[in-house]
Amino acid sequence: MKPIAKSSKLANVCYDIRGPVLDKARQMEEDGHKIIKLNIGNLAVFGLEPPDEIVQDMIRNLSGAAGYTDSKGLFAPRKSVVHYCQEKGIKGVTVDDVYLGNGASELIVMALNALLNEDDEVLLPAPDYPLYTAAVSLSGGRPVHYLCDEQSDWYPDIADIRAKITPKTKAIVVINPNNPTGALYPESLLKEIIQVAREHQLIVMADEIYDKTLYDSAVHTSMASLADDVLFLTFNGLSKNYRSCGYRAGWMVVSGEKRHARDYIEGLNMLASMRLCANTPGQLAIQTALGGYQSIKDLVAPGGRLCKQRDLAYDLLTQIPGVSVVKPKGALYMFPRLDPKMYPIADDQQFAYELLAEEKVLIVQGTGFNWAHPDHFRLVFLPNSDDLTDAVGRIARFLDGYRKR
Ligand code: PLP
Repeated sequence: MKPIAKSSKLANVCYDIRGPVLDKARQMEEDGHKIIKLNIGNLAVFGLEPPDEIVQDMIRNLSGAAGYTDSKGLFAPRKSVVHYCQEKGIKGVTVDDVYLGNGASELIVMALNALLNEDDEVLLPAPDYPLYTAAVSLSGGRPVHYLCDEQSDWYPDIADIRAKITPKTKAIVVINPNNPTGALYPESLLKEIIQVAREHQLIVMADEIYDKTLYDSAVHTSMASLADDVLFLTFNGLSKNYRSCGYRAGWMVVSGEKRHARDYIEGLNMLASMRLCANTPGQLAIQTALGGYQSIKDLVAPGGRLCKQRDLAYDLLTQIPGVSVVKPKGALYMFPRLDPKMYPIADDQQFAYELLAEEKVLIVQGTGFNWAHPDHFRLVFLPNSDDLTDAVGRIARFLDGYRKR
């Protein structure tokens, strides 16, 4: 029989967060090893449970909401997203501008698929959340990475963004708060990015899925609240702020300069129709989640579990010789740097394998986030304090051995 090959469309598609190192970890678990997982932002599996009202809502709606809905989603949860936009100062949003999806991921892929022709370019952060690079490639486009500057709190480098714009650039993706760096961008910087988009007629794709996961009393500004003469696609959902990754509930809001985007919006509607609709109990949970007290506040406040774990991971990592970290202001991650003089890593996937094999700790290597150099890794600070202390202790021991090789 002729071998069955994967599509050539997948040639440049890669998603290392669930890549070969994770496969190795699974195999080790099957062999009876206990692995400490610092590799994925999946809150519920670390005992960070969703708010009970969301769980009860899902249970209640499982039998009653077994039908398809409108392709963009049910009216009431979309209306609750409209209210959310109003709270965040995003003007002019109607129910028609809101698309519900099986997580933000589905909508991100849809938005890029509907937009890109062969070789169209999209500006993406480096480091990035790798879904974007993969989805741009899968859509036939070309991912072009702009630098986020570790020396400046991992803020996007505006000069680098400008330098990378070509006549083929269609859009810029901004992830704020950021995965994997945990950076939170100030309003002035967001306005500078918007100015670039305005000058070059770029769509701004604003990923704000961590907009309530903020530390040190930080405040989040939605990019789309800062201008109405640029087209914005804002992505958000229940996965992170509501610890409901598995319920696959996300949304996308189209706002700003929509008049010139009628054809693109038609494309979005077509793709939304093709996947019929998002899961209905997940849609209904959005409405329940967005109203009332927001329990994430307890977790991120000083003394709250997430805040304590962030501080602990930061303190422990920065005690390791040759390791430096920008302290995250938001999200669930940090992106430590390993001084290349002390740790001359040639292949950071190999580094991650060895750490896993020797110390049973699973991280994701920095190049998995399209970071160009093998000198960073991403750590998820979701395990409880005891497990985090144990894990970072093991990383320190591994690095000590690495230095002495
Ligand atoms: N956007 C960012 C920046 C993420 O970090 C993630 C998941 O880690 C997603 C989107 C995916 O979200 P969802 O679970 O809603 O598909």
